Amino acid sequence: MQFSPDLDFARKLDAADPLAHWREQFLFPQHHGAPVRYFCGNSLGLQPKTVRGALLAELDHWAEHGVEGHFRGEQPWMYYHKFLQAQSAQLVGALPHEVVVMNTLTVNLHLLMCSFYRPTPQRYKIIMEAGAFPSDQYAMETQVRLHGLNPETTIIEVAPHPEKTGRHYLLTEEVLEAIEAAGDTLALVMFGGVNYYTGQFFDLQAVTKAAHRAGAIAGFDLAHTAGNLPLQLHDWGVDFAVWCSYKYLNSGPGGPSGAFVHERHANRPELPRLAGWWGHDESERFQMRKGFKPMYGAAGWQLSNAQILSFAAHKASLDMFAEAGMENLRAKSLQLTAYLEYLLDGINTETPRFTLITPRDAQARGCQLSLLTDDRGRALFDYLSENGVVADWREPNVIRFAPVPMYNSFEDVWHLAECIRNAPK
Ligand SMILES: *Cc1c(COP(=O)(O)O)cnc(C)c1O
Repeated sequence: MQFSPDLDFARKLDAADPLAHWREQFLFPQHHGAPVRYFCGNSLGLQPKTVRGALLAELDHWAEHGVEGHFRGEQPWMYYHKFLQAQSAQLVGALPHEVVVMNTLTVNLHLLMCSFYRPTPQRYKIIMEAGAFPSDQYAMETQVRLHGLNPETTIIEVAPHPEKTGRHYLLTEEVLEAIEAAGDTLALVMFGGVNYYTGQFFDLQAVTKAAHRAGAIAGFDLAHTAGNLPLQLHDWGVDFAVWCSYKYLNSGPGGPSGAFVHERHANRPELPRLAGWWGHDESERFQMRKGFKPMYGAAGWQLSNAQILSFAAHKASLDMFAEAGMENLRAKSLQLTAYLEYLLDGINTETPRFTLITPRDAQARGCQLSLLTDDRGRALFDYLSENGVVADWREPNVIRFAPVPMYNSFEDVWHLAECIRNAPK
């Protein structure tokens, strides 16, 4: 599409946007009496208006029924995780029994690594992206130590070399080469789906194939991917994946995590795992006997009964994604992000102030654009904040913007760019 830099053009795009009405379904923080321009949906998504009602309904259910709430009503708590299953599966391209909502993200990463990172003296290495989100780095490091291994000699980090290439993200070939080079020493490839810093979306299918060719397991952290990009985890053959619900999935601070375990591992009771009663065969869960018998599929990794209040918020949000459709959201997202890129490029030719470190290839990114700034970056970021733009600052000097298709408008994007243009040089 041919873009144009004037505000009228942004308004025309909004008028033609079939998803524009979703914006009305969200609560925006206010700045001097007007909604902020919110570009932080990759850190914490905005609150859907339906969440409050969903929470109150569960509080009422509890007030009215007490313990019987587990079995009464349209959504008895006893089965609550099942009410999230179909929509979660749809969202990540999985079969329903391949997904479960439980715990929080880092917890699930550990639980699934307990099962799928099984180092042997010969095959023990982990490949991950350099500069992964700190929680993932700590999870890898401590999992490796749990097996009595040394992280230094066990974890291979694949890094871009901007000083040599000018490129701040990885080429798929570089990832595949690292996997091939590790060969039969490789136990696990554990990558982010989208890197939180650069916004790069990795080719998960190619990475999975390469991992399997090397005889390794492929796992992904989809914290920045779920609700951002359409996925086909089942067809791509991914072994396991985890994600959170409070970033692009708008389910509230500390919202629950989703986990995916491929069908090929659905019925493997011999896989070591850290178990709890909710992962035990449902038909005899309340017989309270010895001997753990896992449920079929991802449900067999559950530990505890559902966190009803946070699941209820998540359910309200998943309903919106199911109705809006991930493919439709992606179609708008491609346009919205390309429009921001176009406006930023326009500003940067006047006076270069930043470098885009996100891939320019739209297939290799989702919503997010990350700008590497110079020593005036913090002042620029503060100016944006003072002018009602909510973005994200990452030390030492990166500003991240996430135009989110469900609630950001083209006019939002125009105002963001205008604010950057007007910032003191
Ligand atoms: C946001 C994020 C986390 C946070 O994990 P929690 O356990 O939900 O606090 C971990 N890893 C990645 C890649 C993230 O983006």
